[in-house]
Amino acid sequence: MAYYNDGKYLKQQTGAEFDVLHKPGQVAPHSGIYRCEVCSGSAVSTKGNPLPPQDHHEHRAYDNKPILWRLVVKAHYN
Ligand SMILES: [Zn+2]
Repeated sequence: MAYYNDGKYLKQQTGAEFDVLHKPGQVAPHSGIYRCEVCSGSAVSTKGNPLPPQDHHEHRAYDNKPILWRLVVKAHYN
């Protein structure tokens, strides 16, 4: 899960980039917070660098399903 203190610093947006599931180690297409679809854990990745690898965390409580990352908060600057 990702948490925030004040929603005024976040803005809701729709986009196909939020619907894509990424395998561990794939290159992050955007900088931001990625959520694991299996356990809801989150991690920060930067555009052009690999997403956290399969050994980032374990899924013993989830039949050892592989990690799948989804972009949930996209970083932006002007
Ligand atoms: Zn997970």
